[in-house]
Amino acid sequence: MARHSGGRGWYSKVIGAALGVALAATGASIWTAQAGVVGGSSKPAASETAVKPVAETIVHASDKGPRGVNITIDDGPDPVWTPQMLDVLRENGVKATFCMVGTQAEAHPDLVKKVVAAGHRLCDHSVSHDTTMDKQSQAYQKQQILDAERMITKASGGVRPMYYRAPGGAFTPYSRKLAASHGMRPLGWNVDTKDFEGPSAATMVETVEQELPDGPTILFHDAGGDRSQTVEALRQILPQLKAEGHTFGFPVH
Ligand SMILES: [Zn+2]
Repeated sequence: MARHSGGRGWYSKVIGAALGVALAATGASIWTAQAGVVGGSSKPAASETAVKPVAETIVHASDKGPRGVNITIDDGPDPVWTPQMLDVLRENGVKATFCMVGTQAEAHPDLVKKVVAAGHRLCDHSVSHDTTMDKQSQAYQKQQILDAERMITKASGGVRPMYYRAPGGAFTPYSRKLAASHGMRPLGWNVDTKDFEGPSAATMVETVEQELPDGPTILFHDAGGDRSQTVEALRQILPQLKAEGHTFGFPVH
């Protein structure tokens, strides 16, 4: 997970700000359309309907512009930690992007539905989190990405993932193009809390403050071990960032 997907710095931030303004309006209508599917019956899966391709470049920018921050939470859903993170996000009025592993989504469809019902967005994080994806055949990458897309969409009750984040950031030109053709924007990150290495909440908060000037997309995890410090870090950092004048958004789609 330590691999970085690139794209740091002011240049991408400025470009992102411009894109964020342009796309803010469409974001709302996309979400409304997605929510409509949830409220409907068990069929048909949205994946059966036409999908609008998106850009295949890795996005870091926030749809809330230059002061926007994107909270992204990976590797779940997890029955212990995801509900706690949903609580903290709700208490702070923050929407996040959940990058889900296909097998986890399949095992916990109730949690996927809760994530969607709370207004958060879904991201495809492959079927089995193979961080050597960039060394594998195209057929394998395709299976990992599209099977996870189906698993997540089924678990959610028809809400499709809007992004694709390669496990460990192991994107390839092929995987970006494939995901984008299915309406899933390749999603990077700028701030790595490295919560999977077990730092304290205080250390994670410090990391966020230090690295946020690099870009707006922050990486947390809601699975893969004891995530109590991640929950605590979110509890501290969300009001802190708000007090500093940041707003919370989604990665530009
Ligand atoms: Zn991951």
